[in-house]
Amino acid sequence: MGLFEDNNKDFFYTDVVLPFPLRKAFTYKVPHEFTDKIEIGKRAIVQFGKRKIYTALIVKIHKQKPEKYKAKEVLDILDEQPIIYSKQLKLWQWIADYYCSSVGEVMAVALPPSLKLESESKVIINPEYDGDITNLTQNEIIITESIVNQNELSLSQIQDILKIKNIFHIIKSLYQHGIILPKEELKDTYKVKKEKFVELNPEYKDENKLKNLFTELEKAPKQLDVILSYQSMFKKAKKISQKELIKISGASSQIIKSLEKKKILIIKSVKVDRIEKEKYKKESFELKDFQQKALEEIKIQFEKKNVVLLHGITSSGKTHLYINLIEDLISKGQQVLYLVPEISLTAQLIRRLRNYFGNKIGIYHSKFNPNERYEIWHKTLNQEYSIVLGVRSAMFLPFKKLGLIIIDEEHESTFKQQNPAPRYQARDTAVVMTSIFDCKCLLGTATPSFETYFNTKTKKYGYVKIDRRFTDVQPPEIILSDLKDEYKRKKMKGHFGSKLYEEANKIIKKNDQVIFFQNRRGYAPYIECQTCGWVPKCKNCDISLTYHMISRTLSCHYCGYKTAIPTKCDNCGNTQMKMKGFGTEKIEDDLEVLFPGIEGIRMDYDTTRKKKAYHKLISKFEKGEAQILVGTQMVTKGFDFEKVKLVGILNADQMLNYPDFRAVERSYQLISQVSGRAGRRKERGKVIVQTFTPEHPAFIFIQANDFEGFYNLYMKERRGFKYPPLTKLILISLKDKSQTKVSEGGEFLAKRLKLKLGKRVLGPEAPPISKLRNLYINQIMLKFERDNALIKNAKETLIDEISKFNFDTRYKSIRVVIDVDPY
Ligand code: ADP
Ligand code: ZN
Ligand code: ZN
Repeated sequence: MGLFEDNNKDFFYTDVVLPFPLRKAFTYKVPHEFTDKIEIGKRAIVQFGKRKIYTALIVKIHKQKPEKYKAKEVLDILDEQPIIYSKQLKLWQWIADYYCSSVGEVMAVALPPSLKLESESKVIINPEYDGDITNLTQNEIIITESIVNQNELSLSQIQDILKIKNIFHIIKSLYQHGIILPKEELKDTYKVKKEKFVELNPEYKDENKLKNLFTELEKAPKQLDVILSYQSMFKKAKKISQKELIKISGASSQIIKSLEKKKILIIKSVKVDRIEKEKYKKESFELKDFQQKALEEIKIQFEKKNVVLLHGITSSGKTHLYINLIEDLISKGQQVLYLVPEISLTAQLIRRLRNYFGNKIGIYHSKFNPNERYEIWHKTLNQEYSIVLGVRSAMFLPFKKLGLIIIDEEHESTFKQQNPAPRYQARDTAVVMTSIFDCKCLLGTATPSFETYFNTKTKKYGYVKIDRRFTDVQPPEIILSDLKDEYKRKKMKGHFGSKLYEEANKIIKKNDQVIFFQNRRGYAPYIECQTCGWVPKCKNCDISLTYHMISRTLSCHYCGYKTAIPTKCDNCGNTQMKMKGFGTEKIEDDLEVLFPGIEGIRMDYDTTRKKKAYHKLISKFEKGEAQILVGTQMVTKGFDFEKVKLVGILNADQMLNYPDFRAVERSYQLISQVSGRAGRRKERGKVIVQTFTPEHPAFIFIQANDFEGFYNLYMKERRGFKYPPLTKLILISLKDKSQTKVSEGGEFLAKRLKLKLGKRVLGPEAPPISKLRNLYINQIMLKFERDNALIKNAKETLIDEISKFNFDTRYKSIRVVIDVDPY
């Protein structure tokens, strides 16, 4: 070392990913002591900048000394085993490139927080920590005590306390002992599960000592009871929990404590699996002929194609086909990733799958806390889980032998991550994963996205259709209710036309259930002064405030801003304010008048915010404790209630008229999805769609359940306007506190881009909501023909232009966001 260091060609270098939005790798030198330990996929501790220390991920090992700078040394290697495989790294790289993001940003969403330590990370004491320090080192004890005293510490503070730089092993060990937790993302509902286990001090293995103990305890009969119970329990099980011991001996925990004090009993806290291991019963089922046929068809298609669309109407039994395919794969030792939209990850679905796969299936929810995420990460890595059922981000888990990806409800827009970067589309990414992992991907839906359907037409994807339901019940009858006419004839009751009102009454009388769908929460979307038309707006956003009756507030659904309901108009002082439009709260309010004495449930973002609230409401409805369910999107999918015979869509126009080229496609999907909730078994259900425009062509196809016809008609429109899937879009948003600056910046950037990309550049333009969270927005849209090479080049140009733009002193403050395939 020292003098010869620079001449020594034998040093290894490593490229690592750091959690920054920078589009390059950083090279560090590997000191000899780590030559054996270094491995791709492990975490390294490195210094970045003057002082800060990070965990970085090793992505490449080579002998290329960087030419432009002197490489710093890797300080340590944190892992014994890689925490991800090389395939995940490929995936990260693809996402970073395709979505104009960076590998560092991908890593930030991919790794659970406990695997990403850095100087500024803060740690806190695990609320369940019982103060036990027996197995800790001196430094670990010092840190534990400091955190107890100060509530939280950043890693750099811990460095200062111990006066050593590399504290990451200590942090890792404290995590593993369950003593500390990462502070970020910690939810208040969170609890680590630990259980206390009791052991008789091994001293008493000696017969004589044990006899003496019994005599000694004669004076303390309650304590003696405990020991006797312990002895008899010990014959049956070697691990005895304190809880059981208390139950069987009838002793108080006080008595157990005193036995612990006397060193007769030893009590240890042991971490139990946080992810619930429920009891399950193995169920079996047989596929019907038409299902079996579809299954075979899928397998045949998979021989030629990596991706197959399963286009099966609701209740055709798609889930059962998935189960069959999963069983096939896991019997071959492969893993399966099963992605669903957040709202479809229902207790019902989890229960169904647990019944088949027991503890081989891991569930991955976005509400999971850091430790749950850490646990599922490890179980996937070690292949304890053969199946992971989860939301979008579950695709980052470290699968080793991925054989199949299932994307259920593939048309759902929630597969797209909006913020932060990487703004990836999980369905599209899954398609790319088939070549990285050499696996298959099955897309399932009753209402394909145009994008996917297009890909089946061009034969890029295979296609399998089921148009029968599992039970031979016909799909629900879709009835249009013309609100123009209802209003004219004065037949409206609140927001219910006579058709919906009368049909709902019939169903309720028969003791069945109904669902009312209104895709707006709150009481009224806005209020307006009756004299001058003034509308209260959010002070941070360019949007009107929603009236909430129950919380008595006006609230912004974009930034969360809340304010009291004004007693008079800000503009003219008039006290008459009128409510405009209606949301779920208003419908709930109407129920009391229109269906007196009938129990109703409202399900929307406001009533389901708490962790278990959603499940409580669902189970209440499932048990029949309520006959009416009013809700937003949340009521449209996933569940399967026998007694729901009618679905009412209160206002379909609002969906159809939404300013987006996908509005009609979305409406079709949404209406079909909600319809799928009606009359799933026994008798045919009904759907009543209320609209002012019953002549809208979309309804004809919805009524006829004719997706093909619908697709053909609206693809003409897409072709005419050159919209996706015939083209590809990239949306560039500029955001700044100053409105003039953002529009000048937009003009400037658009002009620059037009020089290179010509007519493919559209805008700049202020979007319909031109200000959000106090930032003004201006947007440029890029529209490309479907030509991958061209788009790839354009992305490079774009990144280049944006980085120049951000160097320009005039526009430095403007935040530029790139969104590839922005829908
Ligand atoms: P989809 O996902 O296509 O809407 P599901 O898989 O939810 O349909 O099936 C609808 C209903 O039919 C469920 O209650 C399911 O349990 C039942 N079902 C479907 N296929 C079978 C089968 N082969 N055996 C038993 N029950 C089935
Ligand atoms: Zn007014
Ligand atoms: Zn707002």
